Amino acid sequence: MKLSNLLLNTLKESPKEAKIISHQLMLRSSMIRQHTSGIYTWLPLGFKVLKNIENIIRRNQDEIGCNEMLMSTIQSSELWKKSARYTDYGKEMLRITDRHENELLYGPTNEEVITDLFSDYVNSYKALPKYLYHIQWKFRDEIRPRFGVMRGREFLMKDAYSFDLTEEGAFETYKIFFKSYLKTFLDLGLQPIPVKAATGAIGGDLSHEFQILASTGESEIAYDSKLIDSGLYKKSYEEITSMYSASDEMIDKSKFDVIVGRGIEVGHIFNFGTKYTKPLECYVLNKDGKRINPHMGSYGVGVSRLTAAIIEAFHDEKGIKWPINIAPFKINIISQSNSDLNEEIESIYNNLTSKYNNISLDDRDLSIGRKIKDSELIGIPWTLIIGNNYKEKGQVEVIRRSDGDKLFLSKQEIENFEFEQYTP
Ligand code: ATP
Ligand code: MG
Repeated sequence: MKLSNLLLNTLKESPKEAKIISHQLMLRSSMIRQHTSGIYTWLPLGFKVLKNIENIIRRNQDEIGCNEMLMSTIQSSELWKKSARYTDYGKEMLRITDRHENELLYGPTNEEVITDLFSDYVNSYKALPKYLYHIQWKFRDEIRPRFGVMRGREFLMKDAYSFDLTEEGAFETYKIFFKSYLKTFLDLGLQPIPVKAATGAIGGDLSHEFQILASTGESEIAYDSKLIDSGLYKKSYEEITSMYSASDEMIDKSKFDVIVGRGIEVGHIFNFGTKYTKPLECYVLNKDGKRINPHMGSYGVGVSRLTAAIIEAFHDEKGIKWPINIAPFKINIISQSNSDLNEEIESIYNNLTSKYNNISLDDRDLSIGRKIKDSELIGIPWTLIIGNNYKEKGQVEVIRRSDGDKLFLSKQEIENFEFEQYTP
């Protein structure tokens, strides 16, 4: 894409309202614009990043046989009255009355809707287990929306729901999602820490949160430095959870290299048995023809929160440093405007575009210095400068955003160069 076509308006200074680095950088690089408290417009650059994150999550859900679908944002209150959550959910739920005085709500989560839907389509043990998910906007009227999209009121969530015949089956399913979540966050370039969690409004007795480390996180977590391990998801659920089951005793004895840090909750999974299938009268027939309530779990990932969480993990004083598979553009080509090298530049741009699908050419009428600053702020993993060095020596300057390393390559070498798919 040519940046002259992009809606982009980078800011030198951080807007005052932004308290944490990810919020500052998202505003400065024009990824998002606040519409009203806790509600944001995703500008072209932010939208590209959101879609890239969504696709990594989607690929991982599809891998475990989860069905993607799309449920509505607006729900009827009827099912919520049956599960007794219509009152329990309290003021976080946005309630809406339509012209016929029907009580509707903007969905904060989907357990009721999916249970009702499931009982209409599945009635035999033969169809179990079944995993369903969607990636859809949620609304929770948070008392204190803050830190930009980190805690918004309207936010994008991937929420999955599982149905099993038995409690044991549901636990096996829980383990599958648990491991898939570790892999998803590692694929996003993050180091996830599973934490045994409280179940809150969703309910149930088995639950884990997935935290990633960041000094601005809202949760305090203590962990053993040895546990930071990128091969984690290859171990069994039992091995992983026993590794992470810290006790006060462990911390006291200081036998372990315990670090107390802060975390951002990027995912949360629950196993809650028949909590919804009972009140919503959802049944399947088992082998003996007996009607039983299937056992459920739900599995959430904060997709929009992740854009900010990834920036918290990857940035420096110049701006964002995107992992390459999440970056809005992989390579940004910079040149002088009105350059007499236009034909050469176009040819390098076209060549790279055919090889990698996601290249930008900064053809805006700005100085090279300003364009480099923008490229650093936006966090594009590779910047190519076609300037005086090219004119004099035929060399393109290649800068890697992660560490600022520079290379000088000829046009031919650029065409053959394997731009490394890296995570900073
Ligand atoms: P929190 O404890 O942060 O309020 P939660 O436990 O209420 O979150 P869940 O119901 O577990 O949230 O939702 C699943 C995921 O959705 C969370 O792990 C988080 O990543 C994301 N999420 C929840 N609330 C918000 C919000 N207000 N803004 C952005 N993302 C959110
Ligand atoms: Mg949670």
